[in-house]
Amino acid sequence: MIVDGKDKLVPMATEESSVVAAVCNAAKQCRNTGGFYTYTSEPIMIGQIQLINVLNPMITKQIILENEEDIKSICNEVDPLLVKLGGGFRGMEVKVLDNGYEYNVIVHILVNTRDAMGANAVNSMVEALSPVLEKWTDTKANMRILSNLADKRLSMARATWNTDEIGGEEVRDAMLSAFRFADSDPYRAATHNKGIMNGISAVILATGNDTRAIEAGAHAYACRTGRYRSLSSWSVDKDGNLCGSLELPMAVGLIGGATKVHPTAQQNLEILNIESADELARITCAVGLAQNFAAMKALVTTGIQKGHMSLHAKNIVAMAGATTDEIDKVTELLIQGGKIRIDVAEEILASLRNTSM
Ligand code: NAD
Repeated sequence: MIVDGKDKLVPMATEESSVVAAVCNAAKQCRNTGGFYTYTSEPIMIGQIQLINVLNPMITKQIILENEEDIKSICNEVDPLLVKLGGGFRGMEVKVLDNGYEYNVIVHILVNTRDAMGANAVNSMVEALSPVLEKWTDTKANMRILSNLADKRLSMARATWNTDEIGGEEVRDAMLSAFRFADSDPYRAATHNKGIMNGISAVILATGNDTRAIEAGAHAYACRTGRYRSLSSWSVDKDGNLCGSLELPMAVGLIGGATKVHPTAQQNLEILNIESADELARITCAVGLAQNFAAMKALVTTGIQKGHMSLHAKNIVAMAGATTDEIDKVTELLIQGGKIRIDVAEEILASLRNTSM
């Protein structure tokens, strides 16, 4: 796919082969309009501290805000390497939370984690800071951990598909209607966003990043208006072409976790040919948008099963008991017959074995 003017080969790891095919298709269909254009914010992660046993929430809040400079020093002392690399403490937010049972004071520290996802760095910082906050405010720090709703570390991707090339206005309008359905109905939005994550999680897994962290952040972000909605947005440009955009949190790293130590992750990062976590975030977001385009288009035209089942046929044939030598032939016959079912695969396999006896 073309991302920000550069041709990129994107490694994906997933059990669903049609996901890879779908991304390839979508990427091919927007090459003539320049491919995908992306944006990312600063890599800011949020660490949370829950203060309980609060006697006066507003006074507690103010004491913490008054001490921002000391808080910054405590956080930065935890990870001097990160600070040396240009990351570290960037600010904080303090809120009073009425959870219906008691008042809590919730402290967010905002940390630039550069090329790391940053969970360990942020978790170490909130753990170092907690006893100091307890002492200053005479409260108890109950929870001290990173938030996966990384809404200060956002990625965006956009692309345009020429209406004539995607099958004309009828297909375009059907896709727009499909988007509006997803954006207004959580039952549809769940599957729509799952499709987006089919592409995203495959890149996240291939590069040794944390799929659960990205999934959690995406779905929480989809609820940010109070209702679960589409993560993508679709419209028509002044020339009548179909434009898609995607925005979601993207806490990925090239350093840390398994990314730097797992040989497959390392190989895949080499294939991607990137220098920073920022680039990985951009490409991953573009893959999510491509996947969303392909899924919506298939759903409003031939249906999802035609392409999916042809690609899934190999798995069905393996389940039917075909050996490595038999798989390709049986798969070919299964697809030709048009009934991609395990019982049909078993019949084809039996008849092939009979004729070769
Ligand atoms: P890490 O702690 O292994 O490495 C990050 C550290 O590497 C930084 O703190 C810094 O000291 C150093 N570093 C060196 N070069 C750097 C550079 N260019 N940019 C940034 N840092 C650099 O990694 P991490 O990202 O903190 O942890 C990621 C792992 O933590 C993931 O596997 C994730 O699953 C796990 N985790 C996740 C959660 C969660 O999502 N809630 C919680 C705990 C742990």
